[in-house]
This record gives sequence, structure tokens and C-alpha cells, in this order.
Amino acid sequence: MSKFLVVGSVAFDTLGLPSGRYERVVGGSATYASLAGSLFVPVRLVAVVGRDFPQSTVKKLEDRRVDTSGLEVTDGKTFFWEGEYASDFTSRTTLVTELNVFAEFNPKVPDSFRNTPFVMLGNIHPSLQLNVLEQIKKPSLVIADTMNYWIESTPKELRELLRRIDVLVINEEEARQLSGLHNIVQVAKVIRAMGPKTVIIKRGEYGAMLVDDQGIFSLPAHPVEHVVDPTGAGDSFAGGFLGFVAYSGATDPDTLRKAVIYGSAAASFCVQHVGIDGLLNINEQELRDRAESFRVTGHSGL
Ligand code: AMP
Repeated sequence: MSKFLVVGSVAFDTLGLPSGRYERVVGGSATYASLAGSLFVPVRLVAVVGRDFPQSTVKKLEDRRVDTSGLEVTDGKTFFWEGEYASDFTSRTTLVTELNVFAEFNPKVPDSFRNTPFVMLGNIHPSLQLNVLEQIKKPSLVIADTMNYWIESTPKELRELLRRIDVLVINEEEARQLSGLHNIVQVAKVIRAMGPKTVIIKRGEYGAMLVDDQGIFSLPAHPVEHVVDPTGAGDSFAGGFLGFVAYSGATDPDTLRKAVIYGSAAASFCVQHVGIDGLLNINEQELRDRAESFRVTGHSGL
């Protein structure tokens, strides 16, 4: 049985990378998350694309055991995002966000998806994340991701969402923006007080920090010699994290800590290629090997 549902963007991205400009490559938070998660368990995707979205990509997702029966295809254009990276990848600027078909999206979770225990509300309008959550019967664990775009434009809806989720996965800069604080421990404390019992702060090349009732778990990133494209690293992290949790079937603090290791391994594969290629070209064993060698020896196995 599929045990992992993801809602989020399925997109075309134009990427300004140090290696060049890449026009309209397939991206989106749900695309990255479902490819990473499906390395562990079958994934159920809920999203919308326009008629311009290639059927060959839908097929690639299906070949990787992503159930696309919740992927609506409607008249209009697929979500589009354009971003540009600094030459050393230390920062990224969003140049264009076109919601397109997402502006009118009213997600209908297929009946067969409503009993999914593990739910990932990938980065998209918080009202859409809530709308999907309301259609799921008693999930075991709900994680959500968000970004500055939504922190700035839909703060009220985001606060409502935070009250309803178990785990928030958020990058460091956006966590500071959301909390209004700088010190990362205080930031996590303030965000936990907004609702999620567990907060995972992604710190780019410095790794990730999980904070819950048991304390702080901090993990360095897997060292990668050639970073090609960091786009989707955060979504791959979240997908790998929840994929591991769903595979384990447990949500105790120890499992969540192990899942951080698998999430970072998924992110490290993602950044080695442009777009989704880094995730398309690996299998579960390669991901497990990289995560295990890191967990046991602190060695990245690269
Ligand atoms: P990440 O690098 O993990 O932050 O994720 C990048 C992906 O998020 C890209 O593939 C974009 O298509 C997608 N994205 C960017 N902005 C938004 C947004 N406002 N809502 C939903 N998805 C977005």
C-alpha cells in the first residue's frame, strides 16, 4: 500500500546557474519530494499541471512508483519559477513566480488516497496545503514545507497551517523571517510554539537541525565535491525524510533523527545534477549506502 502522499508544485523552472542558463526544466516541490520519497515507498501525488506539461515526464514519475491519479491536467499553463544563483551558491534570487494553473486549483484528493498515513504538504499556497489536509482521514504524521513567498504574502493562512501540522521543514533564512529572531535555537523554539512539535531547519551546506521535545539533533550536510544545481534540495530532503519515516512506519524521536540522515543523503544526490536528473538516476540501495556510511562512520562514501 502507498503510505506517503505529497501535495505541492509541479513546475517548469528556468535556472541561472554558474554553469549556464537552463530554460524550462521540470521542477516543483512535489516533483522533487515524490521522487525522493518513492525511493522508499510508493508515493501518491496531488498537484495540477497545464496541458503544456510533457506526458513523458508523467510517465517517468509513474515508472518510479509515483501514483499520478491525483495529478490534474487543466487548460492553462504549468506553474513557472525562475531563479538565479550566486556564483558560489551562497544565495538565490527568485526572478519570476507564475502560479498559472495553481491560481485556480481546487485539489480533490482521490477517495483511494484519503487514508494515507504519512502526508507531506510541499511548498505551495498554505490554503491549498490546508485544503488537502482536510481531505485526509486521521494521518499519522503531517510534515510541511514553506518559503519566503508565502511567509510574506499569506501570513494568516500560514499561521493556521502551522497549528495543524506535526513537523515543519524550513530553511534557515526563512525560519528567521518567520520567527523574527536570529539565534537559531530561539528561532526553533518560537516556531514550535506556533504549532509543530518538531521543527527541522535546513542550513544548506551546513546540514540540518531537528528540534523536538527530546532536544536538538544536528547533522552536517553530506560533502559533495561538485554542486551543480541546489534547486529542489530542500524538497528532496523532505521527501527522503518522510519516505524513510513511512518505510519505518514509526514516528518516535529516534526514527525522525535517522530520517534526517536519509533526507540529507537524498538532497546530496539532488544537487549533483541539473533539475530532477540527480534523483531520477539513483535507486534505493545507492541512497541507503550513502546514508548508512555517513551514519555509521561519518564518511560520505563519495
Ligand atoms: P527548493 O530549492 O527546495 O526551495 O525548491 C525549488 C522548487 O520549488 C522549484 O522547482 C520551484 O518550481 C518550486 N517553487 C519555487 N517557488 C515556489 C512557490 N512559491 N510555491 C511553490 N513552489 C515553488
